[in-house]
Amino acid sequence: MNQETSHNVAGQSRATPVTVIPGDGVGPEIVRSAQRIIEAAGVPIVWEEAVAGAEVFRRGDSSGVPQATRDSIERTRVVLKGPLETPVGFGEKSANVTLRKLFETYANVRPARELPGVPTRYAGEGVDMVIVRENIEDLYAGIEHMQTPDVAQGLKIISRKGSEKIIRYAFELARREGRTKVTCATKANIMKLTEGLFKRVFEEMAPEYPEIHAEHLIIDNVAHQMAKDPAQFDVVVTTNLNGDIISDLASGLVGGLGFASSGNYGDDVAIFEAVHGSAPKYAGKDVINPTALVLSSVLMLRHIGHEAAAASIEDAVLCTLEEGHAVTQDLARQVGGDVEHAASTTGFTDAIIANLGRRPTTVPRPARSERPSGEVAARPRWSYAPERYAAIDEVLVGADIFIESDDVPSVMGPRLASVLGDRFRLLFISSRGTVAYPGAAPVTDHVRHFRCRFVAASADGEVTDEDLRSLLGRVAGMYPGWNHVEKLRRFDGEDGFTKAQGQ
Ligand code: NAP
Repeated sequence: MNQETSHNVAGQSRATPVTVIPGDGVGPEIVRSAQRIIEAAGVPIVWEEAVAGAEVFRRGDSSGVPQATRDSIERTRVVLKGPLETPVGFGEKSANVTLRKLFETYANVRPARELPGVPTRYAGEGVDMVIVRENIEDLYAGIEHMQTPDVAQGLKIISRKGSEKIIRYAFELARREGRTKVTCATKANIMKLTEGLFKRVFEEMAPEYPEIHAEHLIIDNVAHQMAKDPAQFDVVVTTNLNGDIISDLASGLVGGLGFASSGNYGDDVAIFEAVHGSAPKYAGKDVINPTALVLSSVLMLRHIGHEAAAASIEDAVLCTLEEGHAVTQDLARQVGGDVEHAASTTGFTDAIIANLGRRPTTVPRPARSERPSGEVAARPRWSYAPERYAAIDEVLVGADIFIESDDVPSVMGPRLASVLGDRFRLLFISSRGTVAYPGAAPVTDHVRHFRCRFVAASADGEVTDEDLRSLLGRVAGMYPGWNHVEKLRRFDGEDGFTKAQGQ
């Protein structure tokens, strides 16, 4: 479908341009379904069709997102997209993640709400939550290295700026939607600096929203609580990888991937897509459930200011599910229905169109759905201004030097001690985060990848850059397999590094 062939309400003066990316696998079928429904609801949109994903990788563009698509998004700032595949061997990076990052859509918002006609273990309990997942940072920074032929490292990047943006977003979303609780989900008990920073920022920001109950739960307990009693959650804000996993869990609680919608929101661009992937085994068969993308397009309509049409389409979807006359294969399987004679994607779409203008009888529309869920009302005040950094007292106290070696730690330790000079002492050698020298437990195993922590020998605990460079020269002369150096610093008197396990 393109601009010429689309149902042309586009000529109207208020038509909104939207970039549409049909995507891979079942993508074109579900995108077409959403477009037909939007057109039938009379929403004036000019669709700018663009490509990304498998086809782009195959023709040699390793980004998966060609310039023409980037230009279209720059113009329209709103995207409705089908799922994108990342074919193995054609490019390392996911085009989905590239799109989210290129356009700084830092908030991945995934609502999970009980739907009529969709049986779950929790039916009638009123499950209605929104997972707000940080969308740019964390292990999705995608910075990975093989530090030895057998040891891989991935950097988990969490910034104060990224945390402030998403946590502010979550509180503002709660406020706009009249929600009463925000749960911050982290693994701060183990990852004290990365996940810990996210938790700290949450605790700093929460008092600005006194009407909202703010709580912190460890992410594994969130998974446990969600499976046990999902109705207790309202808004959950979390880091990228945690959010990826618990948002799929939340989808599973309310009927599965066929029903899970999402919006990726930034300050300038928003991208709307189903949570699921390209489901290649169903591609071209006209059997896939389009509900997830249709509900994502409802989020899109709210975002671009078509609340009435959004509510009308949402109601029509709920009516269709409530009636249960048109049931797609996946739902037929769940309700023990006739899978052979299940509704096609086209038939299910027709049923939704036929229900436009009707309201479901068993589902009260929440008052909050009258308001856009994507927009953030308040312009955030960030705390990453230059004067903040100028005021921080920073002290260099040592370095971790990572070394690949066949030496065992009890040999390495004394060897390294011989090149310390008078500025350093060797605090420990660890392998995979656990102390291997001195005083390793007899059964602790290690690999040929050691972190050697050197700290200042002086009473004031400080070293200089020149001290470090000189130490590195001596260590590298003895161990040419060194592969990485991390400075150890204290910020305003607090260690900017963690201890080793067993230290
Ligand atoms: P998937 O495409 O989400 O499909 C996994 C299974 O989920 C399907 O086989 C099907 O289950 C069920 N399913 C998915 N969508 C459904 C729908 N609309 N209606 C009913 N059931 C649905 O996951 P995948 O097979 O792991 O990934 C395939 C490709 O998609 C990969 O290349 C992956 O990288 C990509 N992907 C893209 C995105 C994105 O663009 N945002 C997201 C995830 C994955 P049954 O087999 O039980 O019927």
